Amino acid sequence: MMEKQPFQTEVRQLLDIVIHAFYSDREVFVRELISNASDASEKLRLKQLTGAAIYQPERELRLSITTDEEKHTLTIADAGIGMTREEVVEFLGTIAHSGTKKFLEMARETKGDTQNLIGQFGVGFYSVFMAAEEVEVTTRSWEPDAVPVRWVSNGEEGYSLDDAPEDTPRGTSILIHLKTDAQDFAKPNRLRYIVEKYSNFIGFPIDFNGEHLNTVQAIWMKNKKDVSEEDYEAFYKFIAHTDSAPLTHMHFNADAPIVLNSVLFVPSDNPESLGFGRCEPNVALYCHKVLIDSKPENLLPEWLRFLSGVVDSEDLPLNISREMLQDNSLLRRIAGTITKRFIKHLEDLAKDHVEKYETFWKQFNRFIKEGIVTSWEHKDALGKLLRFESTFTEPGKLTSFADYIGRMKENQKDIYVLFGSSRAQLESSPYLDPLKARGFEVIFLTDGGDQFVVDSLMKVEEKEIKSASRANLDLPPLEDQPDTPGLDEAQAKKLTDWLAEAYKDKLGKISAGDRVTTAPAVALQDEHDLSPDVKAYLKAMGQTVPETHPLVEFNPHHPLVIKLAELQEKDEELSKLLADQIIDTALLRAGFLDDPSRLARTTEALVEKLL
Ligand code: ADP
Ligand code: MG
Repeated sequence: MMEKQPFQTEVRQLLDIVIHAFYSDREVFVRELISNASDASEKLRLKQLTGAAIYQPERELRLSITTDEEKHTLTIADAGIGMTREEVVEFLGTIAHSGTKKFLEMARETKGDTQNLIGQFGVGFYSVFMAAEEVEVTTRSWEPDAVPVRWVSNGEEGYSLDDAPEDTPRGTSILIHLKTDAQDFAKPNRLRYIVEKYSNFIGFPIDFNGEHLNTVQAIWMKNKKDVSEEDYEAFYKFIAHTDSAPLTHMHFNADAPIVLNSVLFVPSDNPESLGFGRCEPNVALYCHKVLIDSKPENLLPEWLRFLSGVVDSEDLPLNISREMLQDNSLLRRIAGTITKRFIKHLEDLAKDHVEKYETFWKQFNRFIKEGIVTSWEHKDALGKLLRFESTFTEPGKLTSFADYIGRMKENQKDIYVLFGSSRAQLESSPYLDPLKARGFEVIFLTDGGDQFVVDSLMKVEEKEIKSASRANLDLPPLEDQPDTPGLDEAQAKKLTDWLAEAYKDKLGKISAGDRVTTAPAVALQDEHDLSPDVKAYLKAMGQTVPETHPLVEFNPHHPLVIKLAELQEKDEELSKLLADQIIDTALLRAGFLDDPSRLARTTEALVEKLL
């Protein structure tokens, strides 16, 4: 029975916008139709699973896409759930879908600028009229006694509805007569490109002009028990456009509180270490196997930009746009969940596959550190992933905070670290003296950004991280202090009073103490001063750096210091040179010496005087 029906007023308004919109991204209609075909197939699969009686039960769930370049047509067909006459009237004649409703509301509000809205909200099925002059939908419902129908429309006033031939198979076939300016979409190459892009991981086979597209399965939807290592590897190579296998992958499926399926891969090499600059995130966002955005910029936190993979959530609106991606609370929850899971994955890797984790660490430690500095909510979990050498490890062997804490002495309150450029340099540092004397382990931090990492972490398991070069270490007293000869208290005071006066413009407090045993003096960072690393960073950023006044502690037992006290009386010039030398060396060791050539000049003058 043939009937003509006008579109619901809202649909007419919507179509008016769609047809007249100059929208550059017209190909989204292909995505919309493929996703509808996939949805319809998914729904049928569910019917099958629930044991309902289905028309043509043996008909295979495949999608078929055909182009006819001469006739300027394009057909997208599925063997899915189909539609009854009533359903066609409802679904393709009114605005049933909430996303489309929203679109229309927004369009009414913004009046002028509707082009952007198409991108933001999508218009589902109706988007076909961006490219179509006329659309014919032939459909047969899965219900065994349903009558097949044909819906035809040019997207203007209304549509016509008629019975379709009795031999119409189950499912829906959408024949699109392209507008003159959209005939590109009937070019096999152009369309194939779009189809591949959007639907490589649709859960059903797709035939394109009769040829089966070599689709890779949506492995992230599967249970990880059913996916082989080879499958993961092939999938990774496909999405990352690479020939090398991934270093590790995480497969994560959850049903609550959000339906979430994700596979993430860590590449075998850090792309940023190759000097190509910042890498682009390569984690695609899917909604139930339909691609929403292949490279969403704000899906996962910045520091995870080295990952490749897929995040799929059924709870997302399929038409979510780039603009919405930036500010969507569901996406933020998804990102939070995935990030936590990924950190957990790395933790497990570190536990169960130590060597592999160390390979990861060598390549990607900068990203983990960046995460600590930039993401407050994950920093403690990320702190567990840190690895470093220490006074207790052999060169090249790594340890963690957890291991460090396990080895802490009973009377040790804090965690000690020392910043520097290499293990060799740090091993000979006088800052280690007081800690070595107490049997405390000191962590060597030799990466430029480590200072920031420690400043962000501050504590690990309630234990403060202290730099061994800090002025106030608050150490427990030494049990048996060795009785080495040296200056007595009065002599030491006389010396430091003189030095304090001579260096009052350059230095903070000058004192004598037992902090170091192997060097004549040590420079210490005042609690309120910036560390040398932070100063250097600020300078590099072009900021004005406040002056610092390091403290200097003399070792009254050191032969050079004893000599200095003697000389102070006898030879003013030589004693001043020696004091300069001792102090500048201490400043150099601590990274406080702004002008190293000064130390060179002092040393030369001193040697000349002695020879
Ligand atoms: P959405 O897919 O978000 O629901 P659409 O505008 O894309 O919105 O489609 C509207 C409705 O039309 C769908 O919900 C579905 O019920 C029906 N529909 C569209 N395409 C098909 C199809 N290929 N097979 C069966 N039903 C379809
Ligand atoms: Mg849809």
